[in-house]
Amino acid sequence: MDAAHRDGPDRYPVDVRSLALQYSVQRFPDSPIKRVEADDLDGFEGALLPGETRKNVWGILYDSKQTAERARFTVAHELGHYLLHRDKQPKGFWCGEDVIVRREVEGIEKEADTFAAFLLMPLHDFRALIPPDHKPTLEELGDCARRYGVSLTAAILRWLEYTNRRSMLVVSNEGFARWAKASGPAFRSGKFIRTRASVFELPGASLVATMGADVDPTVVVRQSAGVWFDEPVEESCIASSRYEMQLTLLHLGAQSARSWHSEAPDEEDSFDRFKR
Ligand SMILES: [Zn+2]
Repeated sequence: MDAAHRDGPDRYPVDVRSLALQYSVQRFPDSPIKRVEADDLDGFEGALLPGETRKNVWGILYDSKQTAERARFTVAHELGHYLLHRDKQPKGFWCGEDVIVRREVEGIEKEADTFAAFLLMPLHDFRALIPPDHKPTLEELGDCARRYGVSLTAAILRWLEYTNRRSMLVVSNEGFARWAKASGPAFRSGKFIRTRASVFELPGASLVATMGADVDPTVVVRQSAGVWFDEPVEESCIASSRYEMQLTLLHLGAQSARSWHSEAPDEEDSFDRFKR
């Protein structure tokens, strides 16, 4: 498979730290990234900051409490700010959890997140592992997360961006959905969960509500209409002890003949964008 990586990295996970240091000094020798370091960021996930005495050198910081997977995404996000936005905000960037974990933001924060996802999980590679029509299990998505060195959440969000399937991720704790993300085809067919303005209680008969932290991630339950939506879904769930959260993967039925077509053009390859 690696021979197919025309322009992209041929090795995963992407070594984003070395990339930030080496690429920036080669490409922008007058304003390179000089440091990539862990620090106690006191509630923030990451930062891109100019030097205190030399404003034309930059440093990337990531919170020292992060796992290696989270830190990799954070550094890639800050590298995105460096490449795309540093002229717009010469005082630098402080980035919080909503940005880096949930990717529920607009504007430059969304651009930096998109850059990070493109860089760490190139679409051509991800699609070769999980084709757009395939219905992956949590184990298969976990294999992708390990390949790319990212969190399971980050890998699922990336897959939801390109799948042709109607599927959804629900992140919950203590009986309530904290946030959820539907694939484009699911959203366009009216299947999504609102969590911003209202509270969503997990369905009483759902696997996640009945099993909680004891759930077996290899179990797939076919739920009848009325449990999650007005149609059957396949539900599987994994508990994350680190954050005391559960991730629930929902697969709705395949597209009908009147299909919910993706109107979005194919995403550009990460390195096409990166090289520009
Ligand atoms: Zn940011």
